[in-house]
Amino acid sequence: MGQNFLINPSVCPRIAELGNAAPGWGVIEIGTGIGVLTCELARRADKVAAIEIDSRLMPVLNETLAEFHNIKIINDDVLKVDLKRLIAEEFPGMPVAVCANLPYYITSPIIMALLESRLPIRSITVMVQKEAAARICAAPGTREVGAVSIAVQYFSEPKVLFSVSRGSFLPAPNVDSAVIRLDVREHTPEGVLDEAFFFRMVKAMFSQRRKALANPLSAGLHLPKEKVLFCMEQAGIPSTARAEQLSMEQMIALSNFLLPAKD
Ligand code: SAM
Repeated sequence: MGQNFLINPSVCPRIAELGNAAPGWGVIEIGTGIGVLTCELARRADKVAAIEIDSRLMPVLNETLAEFHNIKIINDDVLKVDLKRLIAEEFPGMPVAVCANLPYYITSPIIMALLESRLPIRSITVMVQKEAAARICAAPGTREVGAVSIAVQYFSEPKVLFSVSRGSFLPAPNVDSAVIRLDVREHTPEGVLDEAFFFRMVKAMFSQRRKALANPLSAGLHLPKEKVLFCMEQAGIPSTARAEQLSMEQMIALSNFLLPAKD
């Protein structure tokens, strides 16, 4: 289950502090493990809902978290938990933060699921592989940007908080890590006519990221290249542009011009 447990004592307090675990706040923790971060969250926030899939850890958690009376442990897969209901029941009227420390292969899908479901949460603080941190937080118009970073930027303002070396874990993994925080936007960018189409276009654009945009767009959206080039011109984008060179505003404009062309 991708369990590498944190043994460096300075990391969890920093995640808790920078992850908005504070008086008045509710925190959802995903991937509780043996409860090292949970303790730090519960010390700082009013209430913690800790979600852990592995039932073998329940007896351990009952022991490590025994001194706290503000933690609700939920033994389930986070993707099966009704988080909207959990928030309404456990944190009524409170600002809510999510902190997660998950196996890296499921972290991006879980971040996206949380963002896309537009949960009433203020932030998501999560540890990821160092390279993934740079990719997820890459701004539009930079070399590292990709479909995930665009989706993340659409819903939130991401930042890399600090690095965590591989020696901070037991067993030590083969990669270094970093903690990132996504501050969820109150309003997503304006002007997108069809959100599902916008994300389809972004995915197509980055499928061949080093190529001139018209080729992957034409292939991915099943549109004649001339039509794509015409829409790019209307959106004020040079015909030689590559996906990584576009700003968020240019992508939004392009998706709105391409939308009627797809029929
Ligand atoms: N945060 C803990 C620590 O540092 O001691 C453990 C981190 S460990 C990398 C990830 C934890 O996420 C594991 O305990 C694993 O069982 C749990 N996990 C994996 N998939 C999950 C899911 N879909 N829902 C909830 N928990 C999950």
